[in-house]
Amino acid sequence: MVYSIFRKKHHQSSLKAPSPIISSPSPINQERSFLPTALADCKHEQHGTQTKLASELLRRNHNWADQVMIHEPHFFNECAKGQHPKILWIGCADSRVPPEQIVSCAPGDIFVHRNIANVCLFSDLNSLSVIQYAVEVLKVEEIVVCGHYGCGGVKAAMENHSYGLIDNWLTNVKSVYQSKKQWLDGLEQTEREALMIEFNVINSLHILCQTPVIQSAWSRGQLITVHGWSYNIENGRICDLNARVASPDDVEKVYWEAFQTKIQCKVNR
Ligand SMILES: [Zn+2]
Repeated sequence: MVYSIFRKKHHQSSLKAPSPIISSPSPINQERSFLPTALADCKHEQHGTQTKLASELLRRNHNWADQVMIHEPHFFNECAKGQHPKILWIGCADSRVPPEQIVSCAPGDIFVHRNIANVCLFSDLNSLSVIQYAVEVLKVEEIVVCGHYGCGGVKAAMENHSYGLIDNWLTNVKSVYQSKKQWLDGLEQTEREALMIEFNVINSLHILCQTPVIQSAWSRGQLITVHGWSYNIENGRICDLNARVASPDDVEKVYWEAFQTKIQCKVNR
């Protein structure tokens, strides 16, 4: 489906109603007609020179491209001219939280960086490079740091188990957990994990806002608002954590208020 809230604003006349791109109804659940058929049943088998799963992905891609051409013939030509996303999304790599789909946007709308547990680090050249390009070249106006309830990365950081290499990556999340234990101890497990997931978003947002790229952008008058959100994989809704930073003066205030009020989410988890 190619449907953009941003293109709707600028190209109202050419916008078609969103039409789901569906190859065939799901054999598992006929009611699941809005989403494509799940890939779960595709076994790892050879299909000619290709694996069956990869063949299915290529088939779906060609079908999708054909459908886009039918409904919006100029879409790919416009895409080829360049990208002008207004949003940078920093989220978890979890397969259940694909940014464009959960906010109903099209290719070209969102510049994306994802990693396990939506971590921002001063030492991570990958995310810092994405942030710099998004801010200084693409001139994004909004940055969303979006975690999600049920995040395996955050849960792992709250445990004493070792998961190998990933332990290094989760060190920062573990530090957040240790420093905020007084807020979390005594809570029921589900609530404890949910709150820690929100804390982790706030911590990433806090680090992001302190990076030289963001600080420099604000100091030269570039308008950038950073948002802290958390997605609920049980109902598909995003919870606005009410952590919003639009200037250097807001950074510490928003950070401490978020923790001190324990972030009361108004959307049912
Ligand atoms: Zn996650």
